[in-house]
Amino acid sequence: MGLDKWIAPEKEKKKKKEESKINSQGISNSRKKERVKETPILTKHTLICPKAKCKYQKVIVKRILTEKDKVCPKCKGLMRIK
Ligand SMILES: [Zn+2]
Repeated sequence: MGLDKWIAPEKEKKKKKEESKINSQGISNSRKKERVKETPILTKHTLICPKAKCKYQKVIVKRILTEKDKVCPKCKGLMRIK
């Protein structure tokens, strides 16, 4: 019994593993990363009216708040972001 019988199949296995890694990770993986960047991330904004008589609160889930979102619907004043 020589060592050649044991060494030969080991080398073949390693080669096959490397090949399959390249095939599965290649182009499809980089495309997935690009898609994640494109999807808008929604942020939870908590707005509070600073006026003591009003104190109106609202939560807006949006990417970016607009000027209209910052206006208090109760007293028409500018709301503060918490
Ligand atoms: Zn208000």
